[in-house]
Amino acid sequence: MNNFFKKIYFFIIFSLILTPFCVIKSTASSGTLKPTITVGVPTDRCPMLYVDDSDNIVGIGIDLLRIAAENAGYDVTFEEIEEKTLKDALDNPAYDLVMPLGSAIKSAAGQDTVISEDLMVTPFTIVTSVGDPLPDLTHSKIGMLSSLAGGAETLKTLYPEIEIVFFKTMPDCIDALRKDRVNALIHNTYVWSYILQKPSYKDLIIHPSTVYTVEFQVGAIDTPESRALISGINQGISMISDSQRQAIILDYTSRKLYKYTFYDYIYVYGYIIFSACIIIILITLHFISQQRLIKKEQEHKIRQLTEYDSLTGAFSAAGFNKKVIELLQTNPTTPYIITYNNIKNFKFINNQLGRQAGDDLLRFFVERVSEHLTPKEAIGRLDADHFVLLAIIPEGSILDNRVQSILTPIKNFFINRGSDYDVQVSYGIYVLTPSDYETLEIDHMLDYARFAERKARESNSGDYEVYNIDQWEKGKLLSDVCGHFSTALKQNEIQVWYQPQVNYKTGKIVGAEALCRWNHGALGWISPGLFIPMLEQANLIYELDKYVWDKVCQDIHRWDKQGDKKSISINLSRFDIEANNNIAKYFSDLTKRHNISPLQLRIEITEGAYVANSQLILETTERLHEYGFIVEMDDFGSGYSSLNMLKEVPVNVIKLDYGFFRGELHKDKSKIIINHIIKMLRSLQIDLIAEGVETKEQADFLLDKGCDIMQGFYFFKPMPVNDFEALDFNNISLK
Ligand code: C2E
Ligand code: MG
Ligand code: MG
Repeated sequence: MNNFFKKIYFFIIFSLILTPFCVIKSTASSGTLKPTITVGVPTDRCPMLYVDDSDNIVGIGIDLLRIAAENAGYDVTFEEIEEKTLKDALDNPAYDLVMPLGSAIKSAAGQDTVISEDLMVTPFTIVTSVGDPLPDLTHSKIGMLSSLAGGAETLKTLYPEIEIVFFKTMPDCIDALRKDRVNALIHNTYVWSYILQKPSYKDLIIHPSTVYTVEFQVGAIDTPESRALISGINQGISMISDSQRQAIILDYTSRKLYKYTFYDYIYVYGYIIFSACIIIILITLHFISQQRLIKKEQEHKIRQLTEYDSLTGAFSAAGFNKKVIELLQTNPTTPYIITYNNIKNFKFINNQLGRQAGDDLLRFFVERVSEHLTPKEAIGRLDADHFVLLAIIPEGSILDNRVQSILTPIKNFFINRGSDYDVQVSYGIYVLTPSDYETLEIDHMLDYARFAERKARESNSGDYEVYNIDQWEKGKLLSDVCGHFSTALKQNEIQVWYQPQVNYKTGKIVGAEALCRWNHGALGWISPGLFIPMLEQANLIYELDKYVWDKVCQDIHRWDKQGDKKSISINLSRFDIEANNNIAKYFSDLTKRHNISPLQLRIEITEGAYVANSQLILETTERLHEYGFIVEMDDFGSGYSSLNMLKEVPVNVIKLDYGFFRGELHKDKSKIIINHIIKMLRSLQIDLIAEGVETKEQADFLLDKGCDIMQGFYFFKPMPVNDFEALDFNNISLK
């Protein structure tokens, strides 16, 4: 008995241990026994059939078929169809079944199909633009996806008159609806519930009344095997309860399956994103401008500290240096001086009258001087009572009114404030030389001015000393000439004189050269040889020449009116050509304005100009020819000329300066050269005027060699216009 119970006990224990293994084994063996079917489906119709985030094919249709298949004892796998349409997919032997079908259609290859019972019935509804009425489907143009060909056939049977337009994609459908190319769109209601979640489709509205229903079935090519399979599936479908079906549909349609794309986010949040961007940009710009402002302010402060003297507001040593360089570079032709100024006994002022009084005087000094400075001048304080000045050389005497009017109030600074202390300033002057404008060594210039100031202070001979007195004279002359020039023009100090040109053979006056003369208010008569180069250097020559040419044209016009046609040579500086790059047109307009012929204004360009800027002068000469002017090369033989030039320069006349061949030395050689020049010019058919002819001997020699036209003191000196008009042009009486 005991043994029997023991056996029973072991049997139970053994059975309990083995039971789970037996269960697993039978399930496993039953799993391998289940046949697997492959179903081809499209995946472009969420929530019916689509691919989820884990790349699984899911949807209402998938769930329903899976349940039906399981009910029928099948395992099922779903594959996305690669064919364009379901009709094509039916012919693919890789699929046991294809879905969704709405009826037993023929495959693309024309084979009959067998279809299952309805897995479900899907309602199809209309979508229009918001505000559009529900169209009467009998005579409407409806848009559908081309993949819904089966659904379209059903629709056509219901509404034979309906016009259906197919589109490949849903955006194409919606675009057509918005552009009124179709009256409405039709699709599966469940799919609409998904599609219309897209934010930019807010302008579309679904009309809830179902248009028609389409069966949702699986199918395959009609074969005995597929019939058997479909019949099994039908059994499975019949086992799906309505509530089970509704639960699946509700599950999918209530999920927020639509995933926002980038463009959806832009559509929904575009305004906010735009505003945020604008705000960020504005903040950034504001920040940048603030930074710039701060930087500017800091730079300004630093500049104030380093470039200006905090006590007086004058430039510091560094600031003065910088300012002087800037002024010299921008005014390279202005005659400047640098002065070094020292208040005598400043220590005594500080000690006796107090530091405050000393500071007041320093401030007053800068204030007073600054009042008299132009923007082209500058004042700096190097240290203590030592001031430096960059000033334009004043016209007139060194201690002119300007200096006096500056210094007198400084001198009387304390006297005007009730003390009897007379302030004395000593200063040294350095006159800038042309090379200073190039080297810009300001420290050297200051050293020279300081040196001169010390000399002035130590010598006790006066308040000031000039470091380089010769340069001072030159600078002052330059200043007297250039500084006074515009006044001279207004006050008629500049006149046009004429030097007749004669035909020595016939004894007649054939023309004249216009030469300017300046009766300077302070300097008396000054020669063109002096002031022309200065005016050229200061870029003032063009002003002078325009004035001269105008006067000459006025005279020619007056003589014309008196029945006396004259032609006059005028001088054209190369600086005029540089100042006006269409000078030929200027002359043409000028002669037109004065109603005279271009042939009456003969234009002299010096030989040197052709060498200095040959291309520009050559072009100008050619243009002058085009306007009908005669061009004369002035001062030929003055040293620059190469005979080669005669080949290139299209001048009509050469003015041979006899002055260059004067002098007893090499007299014979000069004659040989002149003789050959005359011969050469004749062969080249270039006319010749000999100028600077001073003696009968020279005139006879030139005439003998074939040069008839001459200009020179032997015949006439340049003379005022009245004297010139009084001459007998037909008979020059020579001594
Ligand atoms: P240039 O054009 O060669 O003028 C001839 C110069 O030679 C004149 O000097 C004239 O007075 C001088 N001269 C004439 N015959 C004799 C002579 O027999 N012996 C000597 N020793 N000299 C004689 P000027 O008037 O002093 O003019 C000098 C230069 O100044 C001119 O040389 C010309 O290049 C320039 N010039 C004169 N007036 C003007 C003008 O209105 N505009 C321009 N741009 N330059 C002018
Ligand atoms: Mg001349
Ligand atoms: Mg000349």
